[in-house]
Amino acid sequence: MEPVLHRVRHKVFSSLHRIGLLSRRSHSGFAEPVAEPASSHSRQMKPPLLVSRLYQPSNLRDMGPDSRMQGELTCKSQRLMQQAGLIHPFNPGCFYYLPATVRAMEKLVRVIDQEMQQIGGQKLDMPSLCSADLWQISQRWDLMGKELFRLKDRHGVNYCLGPTHEEAVTHLVAHQTALSYKQLPLLLYQITRKFRDEPKPRFGLLRGREFYMKDMYSFDVSEEAAYETYESVCHAYTRIFARLGLRCVQVQADTGNIGGKLSHEFQLPADIGEDRLLVCRSCSFSANVETMLSDRTDCPQCKTGTLSESKGIEVGHTFYLGKKYSDMFNAVFSNAQNKQSVAEMGCYGLGVTRILAAAIEVMSTDESIRWPGLLAPYQVCVLPPKKGSKADEATGLAEDFVHTLGQTVPHLRGEIVFDDRTQMTIGKRLKDASRLGYPYVVVVGQGALEDTPRFEVICQQTDETMFLSKEDLFCLLGKVEIV
Ligand SMILES: [Zn+2]
Repeated sequence: MEPVLHRVRHKVFSSLHRIGLLSRRSHSGFAEPVAEPASSHSRQMKPPLLVSRLYQPSNLRDMGPDSRMQGELTCKSQRLMQQAGLIHPFNPGCFYYLPATVRAMEKLVRVIDQEMQQIGGQKLDMPSLCSADLWQISQRWDLMGKELFRLKDRHGVNYCLGPTHEEAVTHLVAHQTALSYKQLPLLLYQITRKFRDEPKPRFGLLRGREFYMKDMYSFDVSEEAAYETYESVCHAYTRIFARLGLRCVQVQADTGNIGGKLSHEFQLPADIGEDRLLVCRSCSFSANVETMLSDRTDCPQCKTGTLSESKGIEVGHTFYLGKKYSDMFNAVFSNAQNKQSVAEMGCYGLGVTRILAAAIEVMSTDESIRWPGLLAPYQVCVLPPKKGSKADEATGLAEDFVHTLGQTVPHLRGEIVFDDRTQMTIGKRLKDASRLGYPYVVVVGQGALEDTPRFEVICQQTDETMFLSKEDLFCLLGKVEIV
C-alpha cells in the first residue's frame, strides 16, 4: 500500500476506535464488522453472520388481542412465516417483509430475471401511479370496479395504483414512432409492487392487497409469431418452477377482464388453493373448473380419460391478447413492406410473493419451514457447542470451520450463519434451525475433537444426517447451488 494513504487509513481507524465505531471482539470470539475497505484480505477475514444479530424477531406476533394487528393466521405458510420472523402483519393484506424474506425474494427475482432474459426479455420499471385516462380508454376503469385502488391528486385528477400494466406499456410502445419489424418480438417486463383492493385479503402473502408481481408484455409482427412467443414464455415458466422444485400444472383458463383469445394458468396443487382444477388421469389435459362445465367427468382431449378435481394456488398466468390493447392505443410498427401494422400482444404474470408463500405452504411440515433450495435465505447454519459443556473446547474449531469454509467455497460467503447463542443447548438451537429451514445445519461438537475429527451435518431438505470429515463436508457444501 502507498505509505501516505496507509497513514490516512490508520488515522481514520484510530478515530473510529476513539468514538467507539469499531467494536471489540464479540462474546463469540469473532471480531465484529468494521468499516474497512474491501480487499481480498478483509473479505477472507469477514466475520460470519451471527444468529444473535439477525433481525428475525419471532416474538413480534404477541401483540395483544387486536386481531387486525395479529393478522388472522389463516393458513400454514402465514403461521410459519409469522412465527419465524419472516413477515409481520401491518394492515389487512399488507405485510412487512423482514430481512430473511427479502433475501429469499431477491433470489427468486434473480431466477426469474435469468429465465426472462434467456428468452429475450428486457427489464424496465413502470410507475405504480397510473393515470385514469389510460384506464378509461380500455374501459377497465369501470370494469375493475372496487378491486382498483383509486386516488385523486391535488388537482382533482384521478389515478389508480396499478394492479397490472397493459395500458401503460402499450401507451409507451405506441409512442415509439419508428418501431421496425426487425425489433420484434419485443418483450418488456418488470418486477414491481402491485395493488389490488381484495374484498377478503387472507392466507398471508397468498392473497394480499399489496404484493410483488412479475409482469411481461410481448409485441409481435403476426399472430403466428405471437403464438411462438407465447410458447417460449410458457416454457420459461416451466423451467422456473422446475428449478424451484415446484410441481406446477399448466391449465387452460378463462381470459377474464384482461381479455384476449388464449390463456393458461400455472397452478400449484395445494389443499389451501382457491382454484378448482380438473385434471385428466390419462393424458396431460387440465383446466380450471371456471372454463368448463363443472359436472363434466370425461376428458375433452383424449375422450377416454376421466377428470378428477383438485385444488390449486395460481402462481402464474399467461394471456394471448391479440390486438385488443394495441388497436386501442395504436401500437404500430413498420412491416417489411414499410407499411404501418398493429402489433400482436401477449401478457404474462408471475406472483412473486405468492410463489414464495406457496412454496412454503406445500414444502413445509406443520412445525418447520422448508424452502426451495435455491431460495433459502441462508444455506448453512453452523452450531458451536454450548458454553460450559463437555464439548466447549470445540468452540474454536467451529469458528475456524466457518472461516475456512468461506475461503474454500467462496460462493458460500454471505450464505453462512453462525448460531452464537451458546447459552442455549445444541438441541434447542437445532430445533430453531429446523423451524427456520436452513438447508444445511453443521454441528461442531464432541466429534470435532476426536483424533479423526467428524462434523455432523443435517441436510434438512432430504432429512438426512451424516458425520463427515472436514474435507468431505467442504466437498458436499461446494456443490450447493447459489443463485
Ligand atoms: Zn385426457
